[in-house]
Amino acid sequence: MKPISKSSKLADVCYDIRGPVLEKARQMEEEGQKIIKLNIGNLAVFGFDPPDEIVQDMIRNLPAAAGYTDSKGLFAPRKAVVHYTQEKNINGVTVDDVYLGNGASELIVMALNALLDTGDEILVPAPDYPLWTAAVSLSGGRPVHYVCDEQADWTPDLDDIRRKITPNTKGIVVINPNNPTGALYPPEVLREIVEIARQHQLILFADEIYDKTLYDGATHTSIASLADDVLCVTFNGLSKNYRSCGYRAGWMVVSGPKKHARDYIEGLNMLASMRLCANTPGQLAIQTALGGYQSIKDLVCPGGRLARQRDLATDLLNQIPGVSVVKPKAALYMFPRLDPKLYPIADDQQFAYELLAEEKVLIVQGTGFNWPQPDHFRLVFLPNSDDLADAIGRIARFLDHYRKR
Ligand code: PLP
Repeated sequence: MKPISKSSKLADVCYDIRGPVLEKARQMEEEGQKIIKLNIGNLAVFGFDPPDEIVQDMIRNLPAAAGYTDSKGLFAPRKAVVHYTQEKNINGVTVDDVYLGNGASELIVMALNALLDTGDEILVPAPDYPLWTAAVSLSGGRPVHYVCDEQADWTPDLDDIRRKITPNTKGIVVINPNNPTGALYPPEVLREIVEIARQHQLILFADEIYDKTLYDGATHTSIASLADDVLCVTFNGLSKNYRSCGYRAGWMVVSGPKKHARDYIEGLNMLASMRLCANTPGQLAIQTALGGYQSIKDLVCPGGRLARQRDLATDLLNQIPGVSVVKPKAALYMFPRLDPKLYPIADDQQFAYELLAEEKVLIVQGTGFNWPQPDHFRLVFLPNSDDLADAIGRIARFLDHYRKR
């Protein structure tokens, strides 16, 4: 029989967070081995329960939420999102500018698909949350990576952004707070990015899904709030701030000079219609979540479980010879560096396999986040303190063997 091949559209599409190393971990689990998973930001499985009112709301609404809704979503949760944009000082957003989706992921793919033609370029951070690079490629565009500077707390290198703009550049992706680095960008940096977008007439794609997962009393500035005259598409959702990844509830907001983007918005509406609507119970949960007590505060405040685990993981990693990590200001991840003099890693996927095989700890290699050198990895600090300390102890032991090879 003729072999059935995947589409050539997928030739450059890569999503290593759920890639071959995870497959290997699954096999090991099937064989009865216990793996410590530091690979994925899935809060609920680590005992971070969603707020009770969201769960109750899902249960209560289920019987009456079996129908399709408007393609952009139900009015009331979209109105709740409008209020949220007002709280975040994003001007001029109406219910019509809000799209609800099955998680932010669906909307990210939609926003790029509606925009890009073959050869169009989108500036994407390195490291990035790899859905962005994958979605640009899948949409026929060309991801062009700008570097985030580890020495400057992983903030974007503005000169690198400027250098990489060409006549084909259509937009800049800003992931703030950042996955995988845990960076939180100061307003000055955001203002500069807005200025670049303004000068070159680029769209800003703002992924702000961790905007309430902030440590040390930090505050978050939405880039769209600084950019009334620049078209911004801002993404957010319940997955992280409300520990509800599985409910697949997200939103996207278009702000700025929408009149100039009528055709693009028509494209967005078309794609939203083609997938009919987001799951209805998830839509209703958005309204409940945004209005209720913001219990994430209890987890990120000093002494809160997430804050404690962040501190522990940072301290333990920084004690390992040749390992350095910038303490995250936000989100659920850190992106430690392995000094290449001590750890001359040629292939960091192989490194992740070996760590898994020898110590049963699952991480994701840095190149999986489009980081150009094989000298970083991403770690999720979600397991409880004992498991986290155990896992980092195993990483330290593995690295000790690695140095002595
Ligand atoms: N954006 C970032 C930066 C993420 O880290 C994730 C998930 O890890 C997503 C988007 C996807 O979110 P959702 O669950 O809403 O699809």
